[in-house]
Amino acid sequence: MSRKLASIVTIASCDPIPDSDNLSVARMAGKGWNVVTQRGEYKPGDLAVFFEIDSYLPSDDPRFEFLKNRCLKKFVSKSGQTLKEGILIRTCKLRGVISQGLLMPIGNFPELCDVTDGQDVTELLKVEHYDEVVEALRPEIGGSSIAAEAMGKFPSAFIPKTDEERIQNLGDYFETMKDRVFEVTEKNDGSSMTIFLSRTVDPENPFGVCSRNLRLKPEVENGVPAQWQIVKKYDLAAKLEQINAMFASEFALQGELVGPGINDNRDKYTDLEWHVFKIWDIANQRYLNPNEAQSLALQMGIPYVPVINQAMNVFDELTTMEAILAFAEGKTARGHEREGVVFKSVDDKPFVSFKVISNRYLLKQKD
Ligand code: AMP
Ligand code: MN
Repeated sequence: MSRKLASIVTIASCDPIPDSDNLSVARMAGKGWNVVTQRGEYKPGDLAVFFEIDSYLPSDDPRFEFLKNRCLKKFVSKSGQTLKEGILIRTCKLRGVISQGLLMPIGNFPELCDVTDGQDVTELLKVEHYDEVVEALRPEIGGSSIAAEAMGKFPSAFIPKTDEERIQNLGDYFETMKDRVFEVTEKNDGSSMTIFLSRTVDPENPFGVCSRNLRLKPEVENGVPAQWQIVKKYDLAAKLEQINAMFASEFALQGELVGPGINDNRDKYTDLEWHVFKIWDIANQRYLNPNEAQSLALQMGIPYVPVINQAMNVFDELTTMEAILAFAEGKTARGHEREGVVFKSVDDKPFVSFKVISNRYLLKQKD
C-alpha cells in the first residue's frame, strides 16, 4: 500500500562473480542491495527498474513470465479454490552470492517514459506488498487463530503507523549518523499492534486496539481476536489510564504481537505475548525516548522487546553495510534464528529509527 517496492535506480557497479562465467553482481547508487544479474546486462550509469524483496508481481504480465518456474506463489482457499497468484521476490543465493530483489532493464517498460532516479513505480507496475496480500486474504486462507475484524481505519492522523526503513535504503547513514547513539533491540517477527486511550482520537470510544492498518472490533462471531486477548492478559486498558494520568497526556503503546498462529511463530512461543517497542505521546506528537519507554513498560509490567544494547555508537563500530548486516544475524533471546535488529536513537537529536534484517534469516524463509 505504501512501501516503495518498485523504483527507478542507477546502476553503480557491476562486477563478475568469480565462480561463474555468465553472472555478475550489480549495485545501485545510494543503495546497499546486491543483485545477481546476467553478465553484460548493465553498465555503471544505466537506469534500471528495481523490485525490492517482498514484491508481489502480477503473474499475467509477460515480462515476469521467466520467473514463474521459481517464484510463482498461489493462494488457495480452504475449499481448494485459487484466490490469487503472483510472483514473489525473495532473498536467494546464487553461486554463493546473496541476491536481493529483481533488476530489469528500463527498456522493458515502454510505459515508463521520462523517469528519473528514485522515482516510485510500484503502483504503475501493479506491484503489491506480499505481506499485505497475505493479511488481506487471511480470512479465506485461515492460519490466524481468530481473524480480527475492522471497526475502522488506523487513526493515522494522530498516531504514526508502525514501520521501519531498511538500512539498505539508507546508505548515507554511514556518514550522516556517525556521532549518533542508538538503542538496539531484537526485531520480533509477529504482527504489529497498537493500543491507545485518547479522547482526542475518539471522544465516544477513547480506548482503541489496532493492527498495523486497522482499528479492531473487540469481538467477532467465533470469539475474541488475539489483540483483544492481549488487552485482557496484560490489563492494558487500566494501565493506559494510569500512564495517561501519570504524565497528564494521552498515549499510544506500540508493540509486536507474537505467539501460536501469528505469522509462522518462528520464535516458537507457546502463548500469545505482546512486546512493546515504541511509546507515542499523542498530545505532544512525539515518541518517548526509547530508554524511557523501556523503563515505563517495565514499571507497568508490560513486556518490552529484548534489548541488545541500550546505547550504542552504531556507525562508529559498524562502518560498512557488510558489518551492520553481519551484526543483525544471531539468535533471539529464546534461542532461535532472529529476524534482525531495530535501531532507535536515544540521544537528544531528532528521533530516527531503522531496521536491519538478517540475511541468514531471510535465506531460511519457507516461501
Ligand atoms: P517489517 O516487519 O519488516 O514490516 O518491519 C517493521 C515492523 O517491525 C514494525 O512495524 C513492527 O511491527 C515490527 N517490529 C518488531 N520488532 C520491533 C522492534 N524491536 N522495534 C520496532 N519495530 C519492531
Ligand atoms: Mn514484521
